[in-house]
Amino acid sequence: MISWKDNLIKIAPYTAGEQPDHKDFIKLNANENPYPPSPAVCEAIRNFDGAQLSRYPNANADTLRDAIAERLGKERDNIFMGNGSDDVLALSFRAFFNSDKPILYPDITYSFYPVWCEMLKIPYETVPVDDSFNIRAEDYFRENGGVVICNPNAPTSIGRGLDFIRSILDANKNSVVIVDEAYVDFGGTTSLPLLDEYENLVVVQTFSKSRSLAGMRIGYAVGGKEIISALQSAKDSYNSYPLDSIAIAAGTASVKDEEYFKAITKKIIDERDILAERLKELGFTVADSSTNFLFAEHSKYRAAGICEYLKTKDIYVRYFSKPRIDNRLRITVGRPEHTEALISALREYRQGVAAVTDRH
Ligand code: PMP
Repeated sequence: MISWKDNLIKIAPYTAGEQPDHKDFIKLNANENPYPPSPAVCEAIRNFDGAQLSRYPNANADTLRDAIAERLGKERDNIFMGNGSDDVLALSFRAFFNSDKPILYPDITYSFYPVWCEMLKIPYETVPVDDSFNIRAEDYFRENGGVVICNPNAPTSIGRGLDFIRSILDANKNSVVIVDEAYVDFGGTTSLPLLDEYENLVVVQTFSKSRSLAGMRIGYAVGGKEIISALQSAKDSYNSYPLDSIAIAAGTASVKDEEYFKAITKKIIDERDILAERLKELGFTVADSSTNFLFAEHSKYRAAGICEYLKTKDIYVRYFSKPRIDNRLRITVGRPEHTEALISALREYRQGVAAVTDRH
């Protein structure tokens, strides 16, 4: 007998980094920005006229699209806005991947991609990265229903140059290629200059990381007008959640404060390099990062044990119990005081483990 229960969706949803409910902890597990958004953003929110909320927001967040377009030297119709880049990516999967052939993306990458494929019934194949976690461009030189490359990649933190993306585009003139640039502002190379040459390219970026606006949910896609209008049609066909009016005001203020954006991304890049050195001194191998996080493995201690120990010290980092990466920690770069606390907790861990080992 068929039960209604057989017809319920069976899907393993994406698991986000833990959000503990008490306050005094150091949160290095979700690649958030440790600094507040630009003061101009806070001012725009303070000055927002609450009475305006009785009206629906502008459906396409035009003021914000214009501000982004101006900054990137594009036009309004080259930009698509969504509630975070997760929304933009999910809609992109729906709008662009309608082939019977599988889409391709790396085996180690953003773990939301398989969830959207399952959800939207998109056939997919994962392509193994090499032993140093590098994506090999030539693995994507074959027939497919679309390609998704996260660059810099997560959780590996490794960034690749323009020639790498160009070679994938040259071999994939008949597929849409999405480049997820959630972390590009921390020293990665953006594929935006390639948009003039490849009309099948879509670049997705977010305000959640470099603009400290994870809580506001603002993401966008940049591409040729034809591809962007397909995205717009997908959104208008089933997703009726435009950006809200406060997000439009906050996002616009953020884009206009370029100086603050540059200052905090620089601070994070500098701190990242300091943290990487300090972790190496403690015996970690750390991948070269072009992001606001580090992907680290210890030569002696298991990642899962370190992660659990750090939690007892109220320091949260991310551990993935997944093949190939289950001995790595993904550590978000915080403020200098977070680096200090993390390093001293790791030292204590090492001493504690050494004391136990010596007793045996
Ligand atoms: N892409 C990657 C690679 C990410 O790590 C994240 C953050 N989890 C996102 C996209 C989505 O971020 P948001 O929806 O906050 O823009």
